[in-house]
Amino acid sequence: MESYDVIVIGGGPSGSSTAAFLSKAGKKVILLDRAKFPRDKTCGDGISGSSVGVLKELGLLDKVKDIEHADMYGVTFSSPNGTIVPIPARRPDGSPPGFVCRREVFDNFLFQNAKSLCAKTLEGFFAEDFIRDGDMTTGIKGTYEGKPMEFQAKVVVCADGVAGMTARKLGVNNQAEDHQFAGIRAYYDNVEGMADRIEIHFIKDALPGYFWIFPLPGKKANVGLALLVSDVKKKKANLSNILNDTIAKNPVFKDRFANAKRISDLKSWLLPVNTRKPKAAGNGYVLVGDSASLIDPFMGEGIGNALTSGKLAAKTILQAFKENDFSEKSLSRYDAELNAAISRQVKLNYRLQRMATSAFLTDFLIGRAKKSKYVRDAITDSLLDSEDYTRLTDPLFPIKALFL
Ligand SMILES: Cc1cc2nc3c(=O)[nH]c(=O)nc-3n(C[C@H](O)[C@H](O)[C@H](O)COP(=O)(O)OP(=O)(O)OC[C@H]3O[C@@H](n4cnc5c(N)ncnc54)[C@H](O)[C@@H]3O)c2cc1C
Repeated sequence: MESYDVIVIGGGPSGSSTAAFLSKAGKKVILLDRAKFPRDKTCGDGISGSSVGVLKELGLLDKVKDIEHADMYGVTFSSPNGTIVPIPARRPDGSPPGFVCRREVFDNFLFQNAKSLCAKTLEGFFAEDFIRDGDMTTGIKGTYEGKPMEFQAKVVVCADGVAGMTARKLGVNNQAEDHQFAGIRAYYDNVEGMADRIEIHFIKDALPGYFWIFPLPGKKANVGLALLVSDVKKKKANLSNILNDTIAKNPVFKDRFANAKRISDLKSWLLPVNTRKPKAAGNGYVLVGDSASLIDPFMGEGIGNALTSGKLAAKTILQAFKENDFSEKSLSRYDAELNAAISRQVKLNYRLQRMATSAFLTDFLIGRAKKSKYVRDAITDSLLDSEDYTRLTDPLFPIKALFL
């Protein structure tokens, strides 16, 4: 059996970033994925401010210019009553807060970087179960080209996403249907009226989810919407019908799509949002990204937290090697750091998500953003993932937002 310091299962943003950070620090890492890269991942393709920070730490931000993407300088919101609020944003040095990049391109960019650093990568490896020694996880077994294969390591990093096997086998992070969104997306060509901003439209049929238009180079765009899984079931909602009707009939969008053409299949996938503290570490393993259900509960943004979790998991794993202790107690430091890094924003955004179940409150919130510079600045802070992320998390924010 081949033996490594660390096994990473899944080469998406969470796995590729964990593998890159650990390999850069000298660990012998194997990165396994069932897919062969480049591969698609159903997503809005929005790469936010928090992602940009980790890309910089990976030494990859300067290389983004070499891959196809569209820089984004802010966001446009609209509310169910049709109020539209553009919120432009740029960093103090003039650079964009984030960008839009097809996941087929972006994930391959991250995976190839990890591949250049890891001891070994294996594409087309299907992980099936953990190998255990007592209550310690000590490896992974699976199938490669139809043959069984096993790998051993001190730590297994579970980065296999919402449909992976690791969280299921561990019996953790199984989100209830009212804590998961179902999303659908397609690519369109020739969408009119796009600016260099992502667009988030709170339409009545999707609340507390939303309809999005994320511009890509040319007049192409990633277009989609997301609804709570519990609402999809309750309302017997058909995501494709809602998307098609919004584009064809909603007065805010129908003219913009009059000459647009869908250039891909409609694809749907789950978004496990972070509303309850996830279990992210145990004896000999950690969970990162969607395996730990880390998606923002309001904006649906998961790539930033996937990359952040990869960075923090790597930091804890390196410390565990120094102490030669791979127990749950040792690896739980990652759990604590992750919680400290994202819990403020998660709590706030879960509150906003709950408010957005009401069309009346959503109209009100977007209406305030239109009138109040204070509210717009607070949103800009969050887009920039500003260190000074104080306005939105200020306990007095709801009151200040009413009067300032
Ligand atoms: C419709 C939709 C829209 C979204 N829009 C956005 C957005 O605009 N911006 C944003 O930031 N986030 C968005 N998200 C969330 C984002 O896509 C995820 O949070 C992100 O992909 C998580 O990355 P990850 O690395 O944890 O998992 P993934 O990207 O899912 O990667 C998991 C990897 O594990 C591999 N794998 C799975 N099972 C196995 C196995 N058994 N053996 C080996 N390998 C395996 C898969 O092949 C895959 O490569 C969206 C999600 C959806 C569904």
